[in-house]
Amino acid sequence: MPPPKRPPKLTSRRIGIHTSSAGGVENAAERAWRLGCNALQIFSSSPRQWAPYELGRSQCDEMSRLREKYDLKPLVIHTNYLVNLASVTPLFLKKSIEAFRGEVERALSLCADYLVLHPGSFRGIDREAGLVQTAAAIAACSQGLDLSKANLTILIENTAGAEFSLGASFEQVAEVLARLQGVVPVAACIDTCHTHVAGYDIVTEDGMAATLTHLDRTIGLKNVRVWHCNDAKGARGSKLDRHQHIGKGTIGLEPFRRLLNDPRLSKSAFIAETPIDEPGDDRRNVEALKKLVKKTA
Ligand SMILES: [Zn+2]
Ligand SMILES: [Zn+2]
Repeated sequence: MPPPKRPPKLTSRRIGIHTSSAGGVENAAERAWRLGCNALQIFSSSPRQWAPYELGRSQCDEMSRLREKYDLKPLVIHTNYLVNLASVTPLFLKKSIEAFRGEVERALSLCADYLVLHPGSFRGIDREAGLVQTAAAIAACSQGLDLSKANLTILIENTAGAEFSLGASFEQVAEVLARLQGVVPVAACIDTCHTHVAGYDIVTEDGMAATLTHLDRTIGLKNVRVWHCNDAKGARGSKLDRHQHIGKGTIGLEPFRRLLNDPRLSKSAFIAETPIDEPGDDRRNVEALKKLVKKTA
């Protein structure tokens, strides 16, 4: 790696981007800092492979050292995309449970703050049964591991709502959280692209206000620990889960400005999961978010 440049100015909000772990998870910390982040999200293993993966002690120590050095908080881990805890296929469910158990173990080893999980696909059963099964599987995966002591919270992410995916409404996310209350530390991650294409209005000022009120009544704004800040390629209500660069999609810049400056959300982290179409897109998206934060916020 070239010698580190001076980090760009930070803001009063925790802003980061999903960062590559190529060459080892600990390398993501240095990369995030170079991109101007003060928060980061990573995969702790290959996102589309089942192979069990164990982290070395030195990797975890190095991650902690670099996070301390660069003030990177929180560390968010995104679960592998293959995991479906609502699966009705016994073999697939078994693999998903083993894989998610591995995710929890690695999150604990890395001293991560949050582990983000999509609630799964309920193909083959009804939605309610899917939510019940997902909650039960999360509880099973966490058994015997002390998440509270390690300050690790599992975040259930809302989804775009295509086909059989669970979690397209705030109520569905809230139901999983309610079922795990007192069992394992849980809260929510809300994705702007998913919220928009699932049909909620976050584009107009009144629409955003109403959507946040609704979010507060169902999940609770204080429970939204992470906002995935993604613009969208699809129209509102299209259920199309395609992320776009900040300000360049069907959501536009203003909704992100409102979220980033809302005092009720000042404790949340804002993490982009935007595409990299051209070199430097990651840095540009982080900067786009940082520029929206008002000096007084
Ligand atoms: Zn997301
Ligand atoms: Zn998405």
